[in-house]
Amino acid sequence: MIQASSITPRIAGIRFVHSPGPTHVPDEVMHAMQRPMTDLSDPRVAATIAACEQGMKRILRTQHANIFLYASNGHGVWEAVSANLASPKHTLLIAGSGHFSDQWALQTLGLNISIQRTAHTEGHPIDVAAIEQALREDKAHKISAVMVVHTDTASGITSDLAAVRRAITAAAHPALYVVDVVASLAAAPFDMDALGVDVALGSSQKGLMLPPGLGFVAVNERAFEWSKTHADPRFYWDWVGRKTDNQSAKFCGTPPLAHLAGLEVSIGLLEAEGLPAVFARHQRLASAVHAALGRWATQGAVRFHCQVPAALSASVTAIEVAQGIDPEALRTVARERFQVAMAGGLGPLAGRVFRIGHLGDMNEPMILGALAGIEAAMLVQKIPFGTDGVAAAVAYLANATW
Ligand SMILES: *Cc1c(COP(=O)(O)O)cnc(C)c1O
Repeated sequence: MIQASSITPRIAGIRFVHSPGPTHVPDEVMHAMQRPMTDLSDPRVAATIAACEQGMKRILRTQHANIFLYASNGHGVWEAVSANLASPKHTLLIAGSGHFSDQWALQTLGLNISIQRTAHTEGHPIDVAAIEQALREDKAHKISAVMVVHTDTASGITSDLAAVRRAITAAAHPALYVVDVVASLAAAPFDMDALGVDVALGSSQKGLMLPPGLGFVAVNERAFEWSKTHADPRFYWDWVGRKTDNQSAKFCGTPPLAHLAGLEVSIGLLEAEGLPAVFARHQRLASAVHAALGRWATQGAVRFHCQVPAALSASVTAIEVAQGIDPEALRTVARERFQVAMAGGLGPLAGRVFRIGHLGDMNEPMILGALAGIEAAMLVQKIPFGTDGVAAAVAYLANATW
């Protein structure tokens, strides 16, 4: 452990934030968040809220879903969804996809809500056939919702949401389709209406390029009606109470004004670039990281955690280390000496992986700088790796379609 007293208070230049959330926050967003506070009846407040709701609908690609914005992190909106969808007569099917799905399940169990899981194989995306089978076996329709994590951030694996939709449809089951897009929104394509997703949830500090603290849930009419007639008592999270133009009822109290000001600007930045270009940029930067890792892996000490190349996430890459290598020590050297902040392993992957986040406000030199810093840290740690990783990333980017 590094001692607090030995942490350099200020470093020259830029700290590279390569955790998969919080991500780098653009100056434009920071400046918007510094705007002075206003009273809540100021028409600017209503205008900002409306712009955020409309903008989130465009980012999520939904025409009619209700957008609920919460002063909360991602765990908070997990609870918002459970609180509005759980009923004593029903069960929530939370698909196994890795650590984040396990935490979602744990939190839901903690609320005394009945859940069912599908099994998950490490290094792989969601087992879609297992979802279909669970639904087919549920003749009494006890399962009220299928809950899926799009990108499981701990493993860097993205599951196929269209395949899950087809499974629900094939089973002819009325379950609602709920998707956690915390780590994938504004990094990988997501089309709520086309996928037949009933509820989508996320938070501010990943692809949306804001500081942590704002959560959102998009709820279509079917899910909204279900919650009205079935769900347990709830108050702060309640969608019915929040579906109003009354500002303080909409937020169950004071709206998170600074975050809303930032969100309006971040939506504007994403739309100025254009969502297809945003997705292409994420794919390009992710592929550059994969090119580097492909070379690093030639010495056997580091390797891809994801076993299915098509499921590699556009947001984050999880790198597994061989026995005897301490990824936490590597992270400390990368952060403290080379100013590259990476993420570590979570849950069962703790001590087995390190992760490079490549989502949000990110470009080519940032990724190349990060990869070079990580190579330097691996040299310091005497980890054997193919040393032409950065060169492979450079070559990939030089040849990438532009
Ligand atoms: C980060 C993350 C969460 C949790 O978000 P917090 O804001 O940390 O509570 C949930 N799901 C996924 C997929 C995430 O990546």
